[in-house]
Amino acid sequence: MLSQAIYCEPFAIAIDLLRIILIFKFMDKLHQPFSRRAALMGLAAIGLAPRVWAGGAPLRIVATTGMIADAARRIGGDAVEVQALMGAGVDPHSYRATRSDIVAMTRADLVLWHGLYLEAQLERFFEDLARKRQVVAVAEDLPRALLHGHADYPDRFDPHVWMDPSIWALVVQNITQSLTQARPENAATFAANAAELAQEVGGLDRYCRSVLAQVPPAQRVLLTAHDAFGYFGKAYDFDVIGIQGISTESEAGLNRISALVSVLVARNIRAVFVETSVSERNIRALIEGAAAQGHQVVVGGALFSDAMGPEGTYEGTYIGMIDHNVTTIARALGADISAAGFLGRLRAGS
Ligand SMILES: [Zn+2]
Repeated sequence: MLSQAIYCEPFAIAIDLLRIILIFKFMDKLHQPFSRRAALMGLAAIGLAPRVWAGGAPLRIVATTGMIADAARRIGGDAVEVQALMGAGVDPHSYRATRSDIVAMTRADLVLWHGLYLEAQLERFFEDLARKRQVVAVAEDLPRALLHGHADYPDRFDPHVWMDPSIWALVVQNITQSLTQARPENAATFAANAAELAQEVGGLDRYCRSVLAQVPPAQRVLLTAHDAFGYFGKAYDFDVIGIQGISTESEAGLNRISALVSVLVARNIRAVFVETSVSERNIRALIEGAAAQGHQVVVGGALFSDAMGPEGTYEGTYIGMIDHNVTTIARALGADISAAGFLGRLRAGS
């Protein structure tokens, strides 16, 4: 990145041309017949393959969630530099910006946040920042017909749209549009990268549908720490129960726990799931409550609900996060499928 910033483009092109002429002259001396492929191989071999100019310094993007940051990186490629505010295990419902977050956002060329009241504590800040910077809530304008409501917040929508890859594909389109507006000269690269990502997300959706269809119908109940899986349930025909409501900010009372114990027993549910960004306390209380009634329930695994896995791992990408969730859920609830997942990249036993 640094070399690009201090490199003068016309000068660099002139140097490259000079190198190409010298290499052709050298090949001529060897009496090798000219071939474009041979010339390119020669250039590549000595590290001088024609470069694609990103057009100056990368676009600095700050994204709130890992899922948005992942999409921005995939679409932007070398033309962007993306910082995610919320890493692995961080809960966006209660997240408050740190001093360094605020500095990063006020210096960014583009700030991407989710919207739909996911980052409840940051809304006011983004409204203010939008007067000075390009700030986009990437899920805010999704078609209303695709969005779910929730009894907890009658005047709002469920924000967890990334749980349905077919809806996330629309968010990817919005992110592409935002990047293109910020850097029109990179439009073709962004469109090509976005098309590749959309194809992968489409493949992921088909994988989800095929493995989840192998869970016996009576077992298609997903019980988790909070209501993050509503879109998942609707997309793949699962009953979804969250101990806490749509936001982790709400508290689950003892009455709620004992009512859910009755559901576990009555429906003979054998596995429940913890979430990496939410405390396990309620899930443990539920398992103990069921055991007191003689019903054995296990933790089917830890799901990535509102945050992806650690950066640099497969589970730390959107595709890896959903692959992990779906493969874990399907296996714990009785589908006979491989633990390696959609692309064969899941860590054994995760
Ligand atoms: Zn949530």
